[in-house]
Amino acid sequence: MGGLVVGCTVTPSPRDCACEQVEPGLEPTTEPVAKPVAASDRAVPEPAQLGPRLRILGVAQDGGLPHIGCDCPRCDAARSDPGRASPVASVAVIAPQSRGVWVVDATPDLARQLDMLADVRELVVGGVDRTPLSGILLTHAHMGHYLGLAQLGYEAGSADAVPVYASARMVEFLATNAPWDQLVRLHNIEPSVAEPGGSVALGDGLTATPLLVPHRGEYTDTLGWYLAGPRKRALYIPDTDPWAKWELDIDAALDGVQLLLVDGTFHDGDELPGRDVSEIGHPLMVDTMERFADRLGPQFELWFIHLNHSNPTLDPRSPQRRELEQAGFVIAEVGREYAL
Ligand SMILES: [Zn+2]
Ligand SMILES: [Zn+2]
Ligand SMILES: [Zn+2]
Repeated sequence: MGGLVVGCTVTPSPRDCACEQVEPGLEPTTEPVAKPVAASDRAVPEPAQLGPRLRILGVAQDGGLPHIGCDCPRCDAARSDPGRASPVASVAVIAPQSRGVWVVDATPDLARQLDMLADVRELVVGGVDRTPLSGILLTHAHMGHYLGLAQLGYEAGSADAVPVYASARMVEFLATNAPWDQLVRLHNIEPSVAEPGGSVALGDGLTATPLLVPHRGEYTDTLGWYLAGPRKRALYIPDTDPWAKWELDIDAALDGVQLLLVDGTFHDGDELPGRDVSEIGHPLMVDTMERFADRLGPQFELWFIHLNHSNPTLDPRSPQRRELEQAGFVIAEVGREYAL
């Protein structure tokens, strides 16, 4: 039996779930099981007291935690203790007054990450929600960042025109490559180009503004996203080349930013025996901490996200984690929020 369908509100167990499920070998159905629901029949959550904010939906690198086929101590711990496991890195942006719920990146874990937003989304009662999100802001075409779009397609959520903002190269990539072109053709998603310098309005005075980031680009370029609200401004960069590869002045890019949520894939060079550190396509955490230590303070926080399963700071009792926290840095935690 398949798992829960993206956007379904009936979640206690697969047996109790009345939503549309597609079993292997069966033809998918295009007919929604739920009747169209009038706006007045939607279960509208109470307006949040906390105002516009972001919420962490996952902190793991593209492969997730536990990682496929791995029995390292961190993957083992994640298998035996769900509290140590994590979905792939993503953040939600919540605009409570406008009932807006956006996510940055559509990870392979998108369906359960939507469940983490049940308290702030407008829910369709008793069936599949064809518009489960206000929209998606994509960073790039590596597996952890966009494969979840498939959950919105014909065989799963059969979504109704969910807005997707991405770079021009990424929009072109989606429109011209299978299976993503089908989602575009069937209007499950509505991709739009987000130009660096331009902004997407998310409601409640929130805006998202893309920033071009250097990162391995076989299929598309890579964006970071400024997420700004009436109170604070965050910059989300889950994947980037080491800081030495930045042509843009990162310090200038951080002007007016109070929270940097940034690539914490690897902690240090010892983590990857046999690999030349200079060839690793990510800034090491130890380098990032050195680079931004002087910035830390009441007006600037740095949270690491997108941690590879090999990263020792995933273990809350590791000396590396203790050292990182003593220096004032933070490992992002699933469910943690930040007021924007
Ligand atoms: Zn990634
Ligand atoms: Zn592992
Ligand atoms: Zn990547």
